[in-house]
Amino acid sequence: MSVPYKHEPFTDFTVEANREAFEMALDKVAKELGQDFPLRIGEERIFTDDKIISINPAKKEQIVGTVGKATREHVKKAMQVALHAFEDWKQWDPEARADILFKAAAIVRRRKHEFAAYLVYEAGKPWKEADADTAEAIDFLEYYGRQMVELKNGVPVLSREMEKNRYHYIPLGVGVVISPWNFAFAIMAGTTVASVVTGNTVLLKPASTTPVVAAKFMEVLEEAGMPDGVINFIPGSGSEIGDYLVDHPKTRFISFTGSREVGERIYERAAKVNKGQYWLKRVVAEMGGKDTIVVDKDADIELAAKSIVQSAFGFSGQKCSACSRVVILEDVYDEVLKKAVALTKGVSVGETVNDMDMGPVNDQAAFDKVMSYIEVAKEEGRIVTGGTGDDSDGYFIQPTIVADVAPNARLMQEEIFGPVVAFSRAKDFSEALEIANNTEYGLTGAVISRNRRHIEQAKAEFHVGNLYINRGCTGAIVGYHPFGGFNMSGTDSKAGGPDYLQLFLQAKTISEQL
Ligand code: GLU
Repeated sequence: MSVPYKHEPFTDFTVEANREAFEMALDKVAKELGQDFPLRIGEERIFTDDKIISINPAKKEQIVGTVGKATREHVKKAMQVALHAFEDWKQWDPEARADILFKAAAIVRRRKHEFAAYLVYEAGKPWKEADADTAEAIDFLEYYGRQMVELKNGVPVLSREMEKNRYHYIPLGVGVVISPWNFAFAIMAGTTVASVVTGNTVLLKPASTTPVVAAKFMEVLEEAGMPDGVINFIPGSGSEIGDYLVDHPKTRFISFTGSREVGERIYERAAKVNKGQYWLKRVVAEMGGKDTIVVDKDADIELAAKSIVQSAFGFSGQKCSACSRVVILEDVYDEVLKKAVALTKGVSVGETVNDMDMGPVNDQAAFDKVMSYIEVAKEEGRIVTGGTGDDSDGYFIQPTIVADVAPNARLMQEEIFGPVVAFSRAKDFSEALEIANNTEYGLTGAVISRNRRHIEQAKAEFHVGNLYINRGCTGAIVGYHPFGGFNMSGTDSKAGGPDYLQLFLQAKTISEQL
């Protein structure tokens, strides 16, 4: 058995040698930008005329690369190839499948800074966030590989006399993986390899704003020995191929991470049994969040302010785990607000290649949406810092705190997915929890408190998939903090958790009379 799982350490950028190494990687990748990447359907590498152009959101004129754009014809073909490949792949020893993941993890680990550099250019991630995204991709490879090895003989069940019972897992078939741009490497890699290490084959449609890092990962998997046809790489536009992928009668499951709107659409369409389909499609969905940090009256105020600022503005608030609402007991409201504003004023914003605390938002649509919420903020509260944006060179929005927002205001209810956080007051801890739970989502939440009774109350009543005590609400680590939410946040599929792989498997009972 391989060494026990341990998460990939983050790079310490206060060490000069690490900074130099990372700068070298940024220079190396800058020279490679602009390449063209193909679709991958079985053994074919298809360069299409119509392409997805990936740009740096911090510097719009910089093209990170171009990637093929799949049509429905390509998808049709990819489905045939994936169905065919499934017949062989499902019979592989699970340990051999896991070995490909371990090999891929080793390759990425050796080229860690290079991958993180791609994320700096393509997703506009600050160094620290790009490094963490890459570390998480490695973690998913290492963790799911080990989980598969553990599951390979199934789970013990009882047998009576003269009877031998066995309970084990088999794969589902061909899955569709639709991955997001915000963890363009980690979640794209994690959802893909969980689907295939379990013996399924997939059609992977990465996010259209971040397809290059996905294309680079395809090269790694090929080098690691992933057979052709197991992962078919079909970037494309949602409107052209999205519904088609979901509706296809041979699609067995859909693993989706993205917006609530698209998630609901997928869930609804997947429920329909189409002609030639003889199963109920499974949907694994990780959607939005409206995540709250609650600050108690005897909280460590420094810790509260730091946790809020990190969780609200890390990667420009574009994590579904991001803190977008803060509920503070009125006794300490002013003090926490003041400290959080002071810290926010120290957040540097700019082109992330220059190691800024915060970079741009994802694209023009994201910029426009967030700026429209800043208009709403002017009506619903008091903007105490930030509130401005500039999309002339890249999509930059200043980190924004909006004070004195009512619990039912749009700013406290709707997912903004940008660097805007609303502050609300509560008169006591119970009311604070009520406000925290007053949302249609239920992904992450945090409580900053020194009061043991309140901490216990939060454990019982705060209805979120990931509850954090005395820390921020982002940054779940694979294998340590299984990640996924309640209610409209998704199907509570816990990525990086001990029961995640079962979502891509079906259990079979075999009982033999002796
Ligand atoms: N797992 C990430 C975290 O804990 C968030 C993932 C997401 O935004 O989809 O911060």
